[in-house]
Amino acid sequence: MSAFDLSGRTALVTGGNGGIGLGIAKGLASAGAAVVIAARNEKKAQAALSDLRALGGNAEFVAFDALDESSCRRAVDRAAERFSRLDILVNNAGTTVRKPPQELTAAEWHQVMDTNLTSAFVCSQAAYPHMVRAGGGKIINIGSMMSIFASAYAVAYAASKGGIVQMARSMAVAWAKDNIQVNVILPGWIDTDLTRSAREQVPGLNERVLARTPAQRWGSPDDFAGVAVFLASAASNFITGAAIPIDGGYSAQT
Ligand code: NDP
Repeated sequence: MSAFDLSGRTALVTGGNGGIGLGIAKGLASAGAAVVIAARNEKKAQAALSDLRALGGNAEFVAFDALDESSCRRAVDRAAERFSRLDILVNNAGTTVRKPPQELTAAEWHQVMDTNLTSAFVCSQAAYPHMVRAGGGKIINIGSMMSIFASAYAVAYAASKGGIVQMARSMAVAWAKDNIQVNVILPGWIDTDLTRSAREQVPGLNERVLARTPAQRWGSPDDFAGVAVFLASAASNFITGAAIPIDGGYSAQT
């Protein structure tokens, strides 16, 4: 059996109905996992389910609001119930509010922090007993270049994405004894709904991304399939607490 085989495993991907989350969900499904996607937008989710089922695997949708603690816990438990186990959690749901720090309201701060960071904490905590029962597990968190760099227009986003790395490292240390590996993927600039709106709002962004990225292109959601399978599979069993840039070289360049 390949070290990358995910047959018999169940994965929950928050925000798996589009963008990077769907790219990851497709990778996990192709490797044999049953995939549950958790999100708010059911229309997008139904289209995503068709894509996932076309890959030949089991796929389901659970309604999920990252801002609601009980909804996070329910989504995790439903995923585990649906396929009788939970092995892989991908904390991918995320948002941002583009404003300078002096204009961001406390409500907007909480909205971004709770969507990006608190929900990842709650989902991971809810997944822990299921993973212990399964004999181990894999938690993959989605950070950002703003886990490393700063932005004048993303104070809450950068705080949440910096925080998710330290959250993951802390869980990696706490749960290594349970055979649960916790890692972070740090995407560069990826062509999704999130960045499409930024591209519309920010003149010159497209040109700046192309100039700053050694690979000279935007990433695509499909660029995340391979690394997700790697971090979800036995191939990465001795890797925990790592933060891996998937950025076309963006963070390697001064
Ligand atoms: P998308 O806008 O395509 O996806 C965001 C996802 O998050 C959607 O599936 C959305 O679900 C979900 N989501 C947002 N808020 C909530 C909420 N309150 N409850 C439930 N689900 C929610 O963007 P991306 O694919 O680009 O983003 C995915 C992740 O990647 C995010 O964490 C983002 O920060 C990160 N990232 C993206 C980069 C990029 O360049 N695109 C760069 C670095 C990091 P729904 O459709 O139901 O609203």
